[in-house]
Amino acid sequence: MLYDVIIIGGGPAGMTAALYAARSGLQAVLVERGALGGQLMKTDWIDNYPGFPEGIGGMELMNNFALQVERFGVNTHYANVEKLELSGDIKRVLTDDGELEGKTVIIATGSEPKQLGIPGEIEFTGAGVSYCAVCDGMFFRGKKVVVLGGGDTALEEAEYLAKIASEVMLIHRRDAFRGAKILADNVKQNDKIKLLLSTKPLAIEGDKKVTSIRLQNLITNIEFTEACDGVFVLVGTKPNSELLIELTLDAQGYVLTDEELASNIPGVFACGDVRKKPLRQVSTAVGDGAIAAMSASHYVTNTDGRA
Ligand code: NAP
Repeated sequence: MLYDVIIIGGGPAGMTAALYAARSGLQAVLVERGALGGQLMKTDWIDNYPGFPEGIGGMELMNNFALQVERFGVNTHYANVEKLELSGDIKRVLTDDGELEGKTVIIATGSEPKQLGIPGEIEFTGAGVSYCAVCDGMFFRGKKVVVLGGGDTALEEAEYLAKIASEVMLIHRRDAFRGAKILADNVKQNDKIKLLLSTKPLAIEGDKKVTSIRLQNLITNIEFTEACDGVFVLVGTKPNSELLIELTLDAQGYVLTDEELASNIPGVFACGDVRKKPLRQVSTAVGDGAIAAMSASHYVTNTDGRA
């Protein structure tokens, strides 16, 4: 069948686009390679999504989104997208479970954790190195862990890990955190979190599992080793845009859009963390998803009208 809109990615942006598309009467399909929910499934707690005065768990919020999408009858196609042919009037999404055709496509593929690229990182991934505190924190109950990064993710996850680990060492390469002040204040006040600022990771060391991290103080240039059982690498994200070869991307690989969230290809829109934007939050992802769906709806109406 020819869908009005194919939405790729089932995080907050994609699920909101699906919801708005269905409510606009579009024949929509949502393509997701894993579980619905995106990066938020790896987030313990969200304090800044409006409507939940006490905050809400990431998984609970995403399950609610999924139930709402289901209520409006959007079909979810669970498959891995392997190739996109977006330039023609009919857009083709080739997956490992068949091909989908649509009049429009909304890209909501989000982003994934960035790697550091230091020795030991790949070798010890799954053996002490992790990119997700909520997924792997329980393996470090009563143990000493290092958190690398100075953004919102590192600050939030350091606090989360402090509830599980015996000690959390938060290591940041600058002397000031990039993340929100309220989150930085929380970690500074937490007795179980030790801060090491102006310090750069050089290598992750161990035998079968992580046993220590090699560091360098960037003020004195002195190198030293800290013993630890786990290293959480939380140094930002990179866009999932490898397949978007027909779209105009910025130098970091984020999709460039206009204010209707249209890409450079007519009928192709982008929303959420995968597009170039100043603030990546659940609240901005859902706003994006709504705009992208309405833009797709206008495109379908206008092009159908011309046909
Ligand atoms: P981020 O804001 O890009 O921060 C990445 C951090 O990692 C920065 O402090 C950066 O240092 C450091 N870093 C980067 N490369 C490094 C390297 N090679 N070695 C050592 N340190 C390195 O990423 P994020 O914290 O994952 O957040 C991503 C987006 O999600 C942001 O827009 C954030 O606001 C949002 N977010 C929001 C919430 C919330 O509102 N509750 C929670 C999580 C994430 P520098 O500071 O020196 O660059």
